[in-house]
Amino acid sequence: MTKTLFEQIRDREVPADFVYEDDEVMAIRDINPQAPVHMLVIPKQVIEYVPALKPEHAELMGRMVLVAQQIAREAGLDESGYRLVINTGENAGQSVYHLHIHVLGGRYLEWPPG
Ligand code: 5GP
Repeated sequence: MTKTLFEQIRDREVPADFVYEDDEVMAIRDINPQAPVHMLVIPKQVIEYVPALKPEHAELMGRMVLVAQQIAREAGLDESGYRLVINTGENAGQSVYHLHIHVLGGRYLEWPPG
């Protein structure tokens, strides 16, 4: 089966700027940042998108949010604030079908998004 882009990054077949990695989760800088800080928190296992989540993924998803918390703190975003986003499916503009949390910060983020 064809690997997702993030599996190729996980396996060092595609280069990326890693900001965090453990056995289950990795975080990289987005190649096309939409804010001064734009990072992606990604599970090493492929979960296509939110509708594919199962109860056994609950702990992994919790760990991903904690990784987002850690890298946002390390990027100095705690005081100014930041946004966590999971684009899900076509209407949300999901382009990589390997679930990931965007961590965006470093500027004011409009709400609702356009
Ligand atoms: P989505 O649109 O699926 O929510 O987010 C996918 C993200 O992956 C986009 O923000 C896009 O800029 C980022 N991206 C696409 N290709 C690459 C790549 O090769 N390297 C990195 N680091 N990010 C990528």
